[in-house]
Amino acid sequence: MRGSCLCKSIEYEVDQLDTEIEHCACHTCRKAHAAAFNTAAGVKQAHFRWLKGAELLKHYESSPGKKRYFCSNCGSHLVAQKEGKAHLVLRVATLDDDPGQLPVQRIWASHAVPWLAYDSDIDSHAEWQPGHQ
Ligand SMILES: [Zn+2]
Ligand SMILES: [Zn+2]
Repeated sequence: MRGSCLCKSIEYEVDQLDTEIEHCACHTCRKAHAAAFNTAAGVKQAHFRWLKGAELLKHYESSPGKKRYFCSNCGSHLVAQKEGKAHLVLRVATLDDDPGQLPVQRIWASHAVPWLAYDSDIDSHAEWQPGHQ
């Protein structure tokens, strides 16, 4: 599977996801991704390769030993790495291919914003809502 940042300056390849996919609503993911939650899965280092643009990566150490890597051109977060861990934490939403598995759980629900309503039956639209300008 391949993935990329928003501006396509950085591309990567993963052989497989090595853990299940989960949604993380923790405070740092929310801020880092500017989203109510981040969708992540672990990938072993040996199963991950940068294809281009790795020199554009910057990182932010959001907690001691945990570095979040993002494109310095467009800001897309791509992976995180915690010291001493065998897995990279892949930002699954940056995949350009379907990993063929569904998220199994939500974590850090205690940090979830009050307006995050995963289970509500709010309307769902394939793209924009009808009438969006
Ligand atoms: Zn980019
Ligand atoms: Zn998180």
